[in-house]
Amino acid sequence: MIPTPPRIAIIGAGPGGLTCARVLQRNGVPVTVFEHDASAGARPQGGTLELDMTTGQAALRAAGLYEEFAALARPAGQEVRLLDHTATALFPDAPTPTPGAAGHSEIDRGELRRLLLDSLTPGTVRWGSYLRTLHPLGDGRHRAEFDDGHSETFDLVIGADGSWSRVRPMLSDATPHYTGVTFVESGFEDAGTRHPEAARLVGAGSMRAESAGKALIARRDSRGRIRLYAAFRGSQDWALEAGVRMTDTEAVRAVLLDRFAGWDERLLALLRDNDGGFAHRPLFALPVPHTWTHTPGLTLLGDAAHLMPPFAPPGAGLAMLDGAELARALTGHRDPDEAVRAYETALLPRAAEAAEHAARGLAEALTPDAPLRHPRARRR
Ligand SMILES: Cc1cc2nc3c(=O)[nH]c(=O)nc-3n(C[C@H](O)[C@H](O)[C@H](O)COP(=O)(O)OP(=O)(O)OC[C@H]3O[C@@H](n4cnc5c(N)ncnc54)[C@H](O)[C@@H]3O)c2cc1C
Repeated sequence: MIPTPPRIAIIGAGPGGLTCARVLQRNGVPVTVFEHDASAGARPQGGTLELDMTTGQAALRAAGLYEEFAALARPAGQEVRLLDHTATALFPDAPTPTPGAAGHSEIDRGELRRLLLDSLTPGTVRWGSYLRTLHPLGDGRHRAEFDDGHSETFDLVIGADGSWSRVRPMLSDATPHYTGVTFVESGFEDAGTRHPEAARLVGAGSMRAESAGKALIARRDSRGRIRLYAAFRGSQDWALEAGVRMTDTEAVRAVLLDRFAGWDERLLALLRDNDGGFAHRPLFALPVPHTWTHTPGLTLLGDAAHLMPPFAPPGAGLAMLDGAELARALTGHRDPDEAVRAYETALLPRAAEAAEHAARGLAEALTPDAPLRHPRARRR
């Protein structure tokens, strides 16, 4: 145990930062989380997350939250339908997984965040606190300056601030690059009642229709919503090049229908009949491997450390595992700097392996000759 607790700041209240905070507090180590969002409900948290046993679920066990997670999770969400562009099932004989059997489980992002937030001591998260800069004080401590003008000094600053981390530049020169793959997101509210055809096509979990380097990916959440992603390779400025603004729903819809021309009507209906509003989600990744030289008083976890495309390992699960492991190291070493070193020694090779796997998945995905592999047959 640490005799005098160091002053620890976690930047970012995503799955990784909140898991780290929870495991620290559970072991009696004080921590403050600084989050850009103005409040827990300031922005929609997005769709559903698949968490597997070895990463996200293992972290939730370390956080003492597994039972609560299991009550919220949807093992049926692991059902995956893989179709081609004619809406023909590619693996009709693939066994429907018994709920829970494969060890994967889906949970809504918002519910996961709520579960983690509710487990923290009230006041742990300082909402509306955007980290602007860090000033090294020369003895491992850093002064953190926030957008609202206040500044504080910490013994350890943990960058859990996602893809565009403000902590990462203190440790490495790496910046995320566009992977060449874009997701365009839309969805269906109350799909079972308002969009029964789409609900039937997607089934209880997720559906992925793929052909000739393009895909339509649809995933259910616990509130009857279906989130739809049109995925393709192309310029990051594809909308601009097509002469449309993302805010012009019907113009974006027309461009997407044109891109997927020739696909089965049932699949095109997903593009045509969704509730509208399209969000552009170009995929970015950090170089592989992304490493840094140990620097007293600073470290990274989750996407800040190893942003990778969502084509293989579960990014949120990895972030949560990082958070739990870092917290465990901090509670298991007398010297916080030794703890961070031990964490980084395990993290960097683990992250490199996962990122290589994701990079291979990206290289194979959405290409005209992409190998057909059932998602449950993922290679490690
Ligand atoms: C389309 C898509 C689908 C995905 N599906 C899955 C899936 O099924 N399963 C899965 O496990 N992963 C999935 N992922 C990946 C997953 O979303 C990320 O890997 C995960 O959210 C990373 O968690 P994190 O805690 O590291 O960072 P984030 O979730 O990005 O959280 C970072 C937090 O830091 C805050 N922040 C940022 N900058 C600052 C600052 N300067 N000051 C203060 N706060 C700041 C942000 O507001 C945010 O709350 C998917 C990703 C994409 C793009």
